[in-house]
Amino acid sequence: QEVISLIAAGEVIDSLSAVVRELSENALDAGATRITIHLWPEIWRVRVTDNGAGIVREDLEQAATAHSTSKIRTCDDLSQIHSLGFRGEALHSLAQLSELEIRSRGADGGGWRVVYDAEGMILEIEEVAIAPGTVVTANNLFARLPNRRQVLPSVPQQLRQVQQTVQQLALCHPQVTWQVAQGEKDWFTLWPGSSAKSVLPQLLRDVAVHDLEQISLDADELGCHGQLDLLVGLPDRCHRRRPDWVRVAINGRTVTAPILVQSLIYNFRRTLPRDRYPVCFLHLQVPAVQVDWNRNPAKSEIYLQDTDAWCDRIAIAVEKALRLSNL
Ligand code: ADP
Ligand code: MG
Repeated sequence: QEVISLIAAGEVIDSLSAVVRELSENALDAGATRITIHLWPEIWRVRVTDNGAGIVREDLEQAATAHSTSKIRTCDDLSQIHSLGFRGEALHSLAQLSELEIRSRGADGGGWRVVYDAEGMILEIEEVAIAPGTVVTANNLFARLPNRRQVLPSVPQQLRQVQQTVQQLALCHPQVTWQVAQGEKDWFTLWPGSSAKSVLPQLLRDVAVHDLEQISLDADELGCHGQLDLLVGLPDRCHRRRPDWVRVAINGRTVTAPILVQSLIYNFRRTLPRDRYPVCFLHLQVPAVQVDWNRNPAKSEIYLQDTDAWCDRIAIAVEKALRLSNL
């Protein structure tokens, strides 16, 4: 039983970047506007600090037990998911795979530090003075899965994955200040803005804000509930970037959606000269019932209802964007 559950935990948290993703998503669900990530890859430690709502003592005691989530209570809720988390798996998995410590100050005003054992039960609890919000530290990650440590890529590659994860989160949540440090040393910061338009140029240095066109289609224009935001840039011909930088997000999370990506590329290719490569970020907001996130633990693969209809809407948005940008 214990081995099975350890294997399951290793599927949810399969890398340092997965730790960063899960802890950052929790911070976002808690309404954080500033998220700070500290990485110590050599000693397998990750810390995520947020200024969100925090966790009250009672919930802190439960937070890392199996299937503990405050975000979903009934089966009906499962089709009405408005938070990034809902499975109650991340902290429990982290308790199994690391030495997990949480410091948090919740709405009741008291600050607590809790250390959990491998079952997610409390090992230590003490009162501490901290700023409102939550600090989660995972120490000595994957010590109980030594093979995992061996098969993970080199430290630079893992850092690259973390950087990509943070960049994708920032595109979907541009209102947040993202600070990332290696140990105590600042690594990079992504500054907040009103939309992805202010974030994208921070990720792709050769794209300027004024080169970007943003198309938003609302429910009326889409003919269905939801919203479509498309950010498009056409960097100069002389730029030697890799072709077709295309990212897709649904309801606040980046997904691998091959059909939507193909639809984007197809529609660009119909109009663009061969040597012009678009930069493009598509964010769909769709009713929660229309997405099924339960395809893989990372929630990066999805089932989206009415994919064909969304491809038609993408065609309209791309056409609009290309008409606006001066080719
Ligand atoms: P899930 O996100 O699926 O609910 P997690 O295991 O990631 O499950 O988190 C368990 C619970 O702990 C959450 O439902 C939430 O109530 C609480 N929690 C975790 N991280 C934070 C945080 N950074 N701020 C506030 N609450 C948090
Ligand atoms: Mg979560």
